[in-house]
Amino acid sequence: MAAAIDETLLASVQKVLKKYSLCDSCLGRLFARLYPKKSRKQIGREIREKILLKKTSEEKCWLCEGICKDFDYLADIAIEKIKEYEFETFLVGSIVDDEILEREKLVQQEISDARFSESIKLEINREIARRISERLDKKISIKNPDVTIVVDTRFYHVSFQVRSVYIYGRYLKFERGIPQTKWPCRVCRGRGCRRCGYTGKMYETSVEELIAKKALEVFDASGEAFHGSGREDIDALMLGDGRPFVLEIKNPKKRNVDLKRLEKEINNFARGKVEVRGLSYVDKDKVVELKKAKHLKTYKVSIIGDKSFDKEKLKEATQLLQGKIIKQATPLRVLHRRADLERERKIIECKLETVEDNKATLIITAEAGTYIKELISGDQGRTKPSLSEILGINCRVEKLDVVEVKGE
Ligand SMILES: [Zn+2]
Ligand SMILES: [Zn+2]
Repeated sequence: MAAAIDETLLASVQKVLKKYSLCDSCLGRLFARLYPKKSRKQIGREIREKILLKKTSEEKCWLCEGICKDFDYLADIAIEKIKEYEFETFLVGSIVDDEILEREKLVQQEISDARFSESIKLEINREIARRISERLDKKISIKNPDVTIVVDTRFYHVSFQVRSVYIYGRYLKFERGIPQTKWPCRVCRGRGCRRCGYTGKMYETSVEELIAKKALEVFDASGEAFHGSGREDIDALMLGDGRPFVLEIKNPKKRNVDLKRLEKEINNFARGKVEVRGLSYVDKDKVVELKKAKHLKTYKVSIIGDKSFDKEKLKEATQLLQGKIIKQATPLRVLHRRADLERERKIIECKLETVEDNKATLIITAEAGTYIKELISGDQGRTKPSLSEILGINCRVEKLDVVEVKGE
């Protein structure tokens, strides 16, 4: 415990109290750092009774205008607001009228030593947090709380933010024509028009929607964001062990959902179209990690040529591509929404699987971001080299499936 309160300080506080009426909390806060374990109200009462022997009315505190008497009431408002939300940890912040902060500064200037003073905001935050913690049996956490509560003492209004829940998993796609994420209608941009049949969407559904629908229900959440580790084309299947993704659940009322059960529900709902595996809770950092990860991808590629293939020549061509670094300008088909850039990608593996007449199947493993359709077609010379160029036969991809997303 700190040394006894200095007489000069006491005298100056006595002078302040003659000018302004302060409640016990506002008085106690001037000595807060001398008695860190005591409540400010308690300190104020002791100072007033034992030393100053002066009774001031708590009813009309000039400084806080009664806020310090209302901690119970403010805590009630906060508890009522967040009662529908499941959480373990929380943090309280507050907004205080500028005039109150000005008056606090004034008092601190008028006493002889303001080193032991504490800001009213700290007291509000601590006192309300303590009440919530005791009544709901929840922990206060400064770093990454589940719920952040903001008490606006100007209007006695409480708002709050709920931390998103992040779920990692891998998805498989068994039906062509499904984009990875929601795709708003190009004409109406989501409002709904004749072109999109008033759905606001270019496609009926997406991997995102098929996975998120059940998740939003069980987490009782207001929104979501889908983060995939790259994406396959709309008309490509996603097979093998699937593609990693993180689903961000926004504003969830539930945080502790049985993910095994959710996995089953999603897979029942999306049966025949999409399947998820290995759902687990992760933190936000996983999204960045996922976006940065450059996984190799293996594709099964069915191609068609405008002439019959010579098996030996086709085999030679695939061998030529294997290990090759190719140059790809942004494909013509996506040029309307992506910048025109040239990139280099390595073709790790290129194997001929089957060939018959003008049809063949290849297995290709390439670096993340390789445009496989253009590797085959050449995209009017924008991808070099390409299978079409090497063979001297115009080829195109008929069907494309991702059979493996390597590494994790
Ligand atoms: Zn006060
Ligand atoms: Zn539309």
